[in-house]
Amino acid sequence: MQNIPIHPLFAPLETLPGIEGRRKSLFQRLLGARVVDALLHLPSNIIQYRPIQSILQAESGENIIIEVDILSHTPSIQRTKPYKIMCTDGRHTFEIIYFNAVKPYLQKLYPVGARKIIIGKVDRYLSQAKIAHPDAVLDTANAQHLITHEVIYPLTTGVTNKCVQRAINQALSRIPNFPDWLDEAHVKQHGWPSWREAILAVHAPKTTIDLSLQSKFRQRLAFDEFLSHQLGLQLARQHQVRTLPGLTQKGGGQLVQKLLSALPFELTDAQKHVVHEIFEDMALPHPMSRLIQGDVGSGKTVVALIAMLKAIEAGNQAAMLAPTDILARQHAETIIDLVAQIGVRAAILTAREKGKAKTKILDQLASGEIDLIIGTHAIIQDKVEFKKLGLAVIDEQHRFGVEQRLQLSSKGYNPDVLAMTATPIPRTLQLANYGDMDVSIIAQKPAGRLPIQTKVINLDRLEEIVEGAKRALEEGAKIFWVCPLVKESEALDLSAAEDRFLHLQQIFETRVGLVHGQMKAQEKDAVMDHFINGNVDILIATTVIEVGVNVPAATIMIIEHAERFGLAQLHQLRGRIGRGDKPGTCILLYGKQLSQVGRKRLETMRETSDGFKIAEADLKLRGGGDVLGTRQSGMPGFKIADFVEHPEICSTLLSLANKEARRICKEDPLLETPKGQALAFLLKLFGRDEAMKYTRS
Ligand code: ADP
Ligand code: MG
Repeated sequence: MQNIPIHPLFAPLETLPGIEGRRKSLFQRLLGARVVDALLHLPSNIIQYRPIQSILQAESGENIIIEVDILSHTPSIQRTKPYKIMCTDGRHTFEIIYFNAVKPYLQKLYPVGARKIIIGKVDRYLSQAKIAHPDAVLDTANAQHLITHEVIYPLTTGVTNKCVQRAINQALSRIPNFPDWLDEAHVKQHGWPSWREAILAVHAPKTTIDLSLQSKFRQRLAFDEFLSHQLGLQLARQHQVRTLPGLTQKGGGQLVQKLLSALPFELTDAQKHVVHEIFEDMALPHPMSRLIQGDVGSGKTVVALIAMLKAIEAGNQAAMLAPTDILARQHAETIIDLVAQIGVRAAILTAREKGKAKTKILDQLASGEIDLIIGTHAIIQDKVEFKKLGLAVIDEQHRFGVEQRLQLSSKGYNPDVLAMTATPIPRTLQLANYGDMDVSIIAQKPAGRLPIQTKVINLDRLEEIVEGAKRALEEGAKIFWVCPLVKESEALDLSAAEDRFLHLQQIFETRVGLVHGQMKAQEKDAVMDHFINGNVDILIATTVIEVGVNVPAATIMIIEHAERFGLAQLHQLRGRIGRGDKPGTCILLYGKQLSQVGRKRLETMRETSDGFKIAEADLKLRGGGDVLGTRQSGMPGFKIADFVEHPEICSTLLSLANKEARRICKEDPLLETPKGQALAFLLKLFGRDEAMKYTRS
């Protein structure tokens, strides 16, 4: 890196002017720890000042430029009263006022009889116009320094715009020259500026367009940010592949064939296509890292099972990781017996397997007597050893962190990894989260699925709902009844569910069951079993049933206080019904305090059952504040790209960056060339220092 002068940009933030003492931590929280972070803090607004001749032309609240003669000063007599400076535009007089002003300072700034240019915001109260604390005061001789607009930055209490401007202007003057990390052709093709030009321009916006991703300057920076992110992911993945070669899993096809003939249905074309992609990947000597995306009910499980059999055919073991106990049990129930018929030894391992039973499973995994293990986090714990793990399937991937996905490989095996998700995030964000993975999409649901009708109803009408439930039960329906989220607390959720349980028990007696997160595992199983196979027909539940549970006979889903759930969650819940051969009904009950966003969410649910559309709507509705809903979705935070306002531009730039990162990893995997060195610098600019350990720098 000797050619690249790094110091000025990576110097600590407090080397910029005005950032000291108590304000240091405020500034750091707002801008970041380094000088370059201040540069990446982009303006959010501009104030345009309109030149006017007469104060009468200004509306209240308008930002103006006006030339005046100073008439007189009236210092404040009390602290609470302002210091007033009377002036005239030639025809009309008005006041410039200051609170807590220092008299000598103002007398010097506004000498009586002088002509001045005032820039500021007009306040009009009744017929009186005032300008309080003008933004600038100039001599007419200095009119060439006149600013016609002011750039506004996102701020926090205790930090003024002026201070941020000053720090950033200083940072701008410290940008050294460095070689561009992007190919000249690439930059030209998109009409992008250099990084330096871009940074200078984004801090000097002239119109509101300049503040958005429609600006070429912002696009260039957003691309750089995406590229650094994607490159970081790819380098890490590539490093893993290099240091731990994967398995070539081909197998003869016997097990897969047997399973296919044992299945009561034929695979959809979409499933066949994805199976094909997976097989091709597994046959390659490097580890697969593939994400299956498919809406709820699209039939991901069987695809995963086929892949697992492929691994077993090839002489290896397979593991399937599920986020909840119930889901693991359910997979176990359908899978273990099914594969036993074709001679595959499968078992389940969750926190519930204890003592001798657990030891036995661990031994059998280590010795290779178990081919296929299904479980929760328990199977990625330290104690668990495989004889030879060939494939790890991660169901409902969005419930796990990236770390857990990598944890399996870090145990010393480098199995193929197949993650599955029911589109919890919109298409535009896929690459952001899974940029290092290949994606397969199951774009079609098994034929013959009947649509689910969704109704949005006021909770006031609970009695009607209960009456409706009675009728439905007489016709043989099974009903999920989901109780509200109360403050994200299991204990409170539970009490709401218990109340509803007691209430409905009075009406439906033993036909009602209750399942919640705090129940003992065996109790949960027993209730679920009664619901699936027995005489429980209404299952009251907290959201423990949310993920993946399959009860084909269930046709009705009732969700209380649906407005408290996120869209993705509602979609998942609704996906629990309509899995059999009867049409489903989903009833979303809302409480009194239905906010606008809450109403929009429920309307979205009523209007569409397309998981992609719902995810996009979710993103829009979550809006501003927590821009990407970073916490909920595990999204990495981006400083420049605004997914909410410009999903299309973001998505285009992100996929360009993904392609570019892949190309770079192929051609210059250790970032050794001069371009590579410049790219290492880019990684550093965006604070992706962890990726640096995979390069030669
Ligand atoms: P998800 O993608 O939500 O995980 P599942 O894998 O649980 O969906 O599948 C939902 C249901 O669809 C299951 O009952 C499964 O047996 C059934 N199924 C899967 N593939 C097909 C198919 N090709 N034809 C008919 N039914 C299928
Ligand atoms: Mg599933």
